[in-house]
Amino acid sequence: MAEEPTDGLAERLARVQGEIADAARAAGRDPEELTTIVVTKFHPTSLVRELHALGVRDVGENRHQDAEPKAAELDDLGLRWHFVGQLQSKKARAVRRYAFAVHSIDRESVVRGLASEEGPALPVFVQVDLTGDPGRGGVALDDVEPLVEHVAAAPGLELLGLMTVAPLGADPRRAFASVREAGERIRRIAPDARSLSMGMSGDFREAIAEGATHLRIGTAITGNRPQPG
Ligand SMILES: *Cc1c(COP(=O)(O)O)cnc(C)c1O
Repeated sequence: MAEEPTDGLAERLARVQGEIADAARAAGRDPEELTTIVVTKFHPTSLVRELHALGVRDVGENRHQDAEPKAAELDDLGLRWHFVGQLQSKKARAVRRYAFAVHSIDRESVVRGLASEEGPALPVFVQVDLTGDPGRGGVALDDVEPLVEHVAAAPGLELLGLMTVAPLGADPRRAFASVREAGERIRRIAPDARSLSMGMSGDFREAIAEGATHLRIGTAITGNRPQPG
C-alpha cells in the first residue's frame, strides 16, 4: 500500500534538530548528550516509517492500546519505543515487553507491575506532577523521594531520573528548574539517576537550559496530530 509522504516532515525534523543543537550550545552543553524522542501518538505507522527513514530511532507513545500494535507492526525497524503516558498497573507487564523505556512511573503499584526478576533492566523515569491535578499523572514534588526509594529497591528497573510536563500557563523555565533540583536530591538515593526527561514542542529550549537529557517532541516535528481514535 503506497502512502503519501507527509508534507514537510523532513524539513520540520531538520529544523527542530537544528534548534535543539543551537539551544544546547547556547547553554554550554554538547548536543550529543541529548536524546530526542519523537512522540508519534495518534499518527499512523506510515509516519513512523518515514521518521525511521529520516534517521529517527527513538519514538514515544502515550497509550498502551495504540503503542502495542504499532510496535508489533514496526518490529522490523528496531525502534526504541518510549512509553510516556499514564500507565495502569495491570498493563505494566505488557508495556514492558515492547518498551525500551518508561517515562511515567507515578505510583507504587506501577513500580510493582513493571518490576521483574527476569531479563535486562528496564530504564525508567519517575514522573513529577507540577499541576496539582491528580488526573494529569505524576507524583507531587514532595512525594518524589519515597517513590524513588521504591523504584531503587525494585528488581529489574534502572532509574534514569525524573520526567515532567511543564504546566500550562506557568513559566516553563521555573518548572523545569524545580524538577532539576529534585533530580539533585534523589541522587542520595539513586546516585546514577542523572537524566531529566523534559521539554516538548513549545518549551524544549527552556528544558535544555535546565539540563534536560531526554526531549519528547511531537507536533513541532510531526505536524498536527489526527484526532485520537
Ligand atoms: C504528546 C506528548 C508530548 C509531545 O507533545 P508536543 O507538544 O506535541 O511536542 C510529550 N510528552 C508527553 C507525555 C506527551 O503526552
